[in-house]
Amino acid sequence: MQNSEQKLSTTQPLDSLIGGKWISNAKKIDVTNPVDGSTLAQVSTASIDDCLAAVDAAQNAFASWKATAPRARAEILRKSFEIMIAEQESLARLITLENGKVLSDARAEVAYAAEFFRWFSEEAVRIDGDYRRAPSGANWLMVSRQPVGVALLATPWNFPAAMATRKIGPALAAGCTVVLKPASETPLTALAIAEIMQRAGVPDGVVNVVVPSPSGPAVSAMLKSDRVRKLSFTGSTQVGALLLAQAAEKIINCTMELGGNAPFIVFEDADLAAAIDGAMLAKMRNGGAACTAANRFFVHEKIYDAFADGLTARMNALVLGDGLDAKTTVGPLVSKSQQQQVAKLVEQAKSFGAKVACGGNASTDGSFGYFPTVLTDVSFDAPILQTEIFGPVAPLVRFKDSDDILAHANNVEHGLVSYVYTRDLGRGMRVAESLESGMVGLNRGLVSDPAAPFGGVKQSGLGREGAHDGLLAFLETKYVAGNW
Ligand code: NAD
Repeated sequence: MQNSEQKLSTTQPLDSLIGGKWISNAKKIDVTNPVDGSTLAQVSTASIDDCLAAVDAAQNAFASWKATAPRARAEILRKSFEIMIAEQESLARLITLENGKVLSDARAEVAYAAEFFRWFSEEAVRIDGDYRRAPSGANWLMVSRQPVGVALLATPWNFPAAMATRKIGPALAAGCTVVLKPASETPLTALAIAEIMQRAGVPDGVVNVVVPSPSGPAVSAMLKSDRVRKLSFTGSTQVGALLLAQAAEKIINCTMELGGNAPFIVFEDADLAAAIDGAMLAKMRNGGAACTAANRFFVHEKIYDAFADGLTARMNALVLGDGLDAKTTVGPLVSKSQQQQVAKLVEQAKSFGAKVACGGNASTDGSFGYFPTVLTDVSFDAPILQTEIFGPVAPLVRFKDSDDILAHANNVEHGLVSYVYTRDLGRGMRVAESLESGMVGLNRGLVSDPAAPFGGVKQSGLGREGAHDGLLAFLETKYVAGNW
């Protein structure tokens, strides 16, 4: 792979943002370009003291931000949205450079990410309350909402812009101040968004960004600080469980957006072309590195061969390469370890009897790429079905008994999203109701929408982001019992 025009913008921030100031640190971490493993940039590592200073800065800014008129908070979010859209191309390039995803996916991410700022600028002025007479008739129940307080936001590398704005947007709309800790693989996008927010007029200390390395001790120190009142985490179930335990010590309010293992069910009456289009979207958005990625394809035997052939043809036609190259339709994975993990899962699936219809190997040109892969004849008990693949691999399972398939779909510890293809809407709705997942795509391969409540059940998380629910996650309910 040729590494094309990969210079960062000269205004790209590389330091921590604490209390409105960019704080440099002699200790740096390398940000790697997944296309060739080269170092893209060096970012200041935030020490534990820096992280605690960021929490202090957020605490100091909280009272005045909370008191800032909702309309004024909304205008800053709206302005941030407008700048992100105006600078969509340069932000998209930045995402591709540090994450590897193709430019078209990166452009879509910027649009999606910016939309969280627009949506929550509109929600900021719709924080409701309640005023009722008590059932006894003797007094009054008054309910209002107040910002939770300082929020610690931790985000993964797979959507470096959208996972940040999906948290910053509602937090600021609610009146909370934040410390954002992006994934160390992809900190540049988060820093660029923070700089955009400064230009949009966000007051000092309202948005702070730190990149500690390692993450664990710094996040623990912030959670123990007595000043963090909210933890909003997106990442793996494993790390989420660890942080929930830590947050328990100070009874910190938590929202957890964790791993997925989405079933993609194709019934015999499905519109085949639509199902294949949906499968490509559900599997290949972000090169398969999405929590919403279809991970287990259950296809009815009557339509299985046609579906497998169609999907294989589409996957085979994808061009693996440098995400900045216009010919490329799938970029490399984010890291060597991610590439190795995907390769290991495919080898293991083969040893359990799966056949490789296309792909099945890692690129050998020094990139972290893995060729789009379709595995057929995967058995119901294959371990790959119990693991979040997080790469461009589609395991296809043939099923006969439609009544039985729901139990297989629900037979995992995760429950983020499920996909169902059928022309029988009644069946589709019944299956959607019974699937153990927070979201269902019914004849749709994409569910994400800033106006919709995003989140999972079981070990996929707690709480919702986006929609009005996303705002409520940063608000406390205050009840005043009145009598006069
Ligand atoms: P990860 O759990 O390794 O990391 C997530 C964040 O936690 C990063 O900022 C990381 O630096 C930090 N972190 C890692 N170890 C930590 C520790 N010991 N203490 C404190 N912080 C720590 O996840 P990832 O590999 O970056 O992202 C992939 C995972 O994220 C997948 O499981 C995916 O499904 C999930 N994800 C979920 C959603 C969702 O909305 N449900 C969205 C995107 C990604």
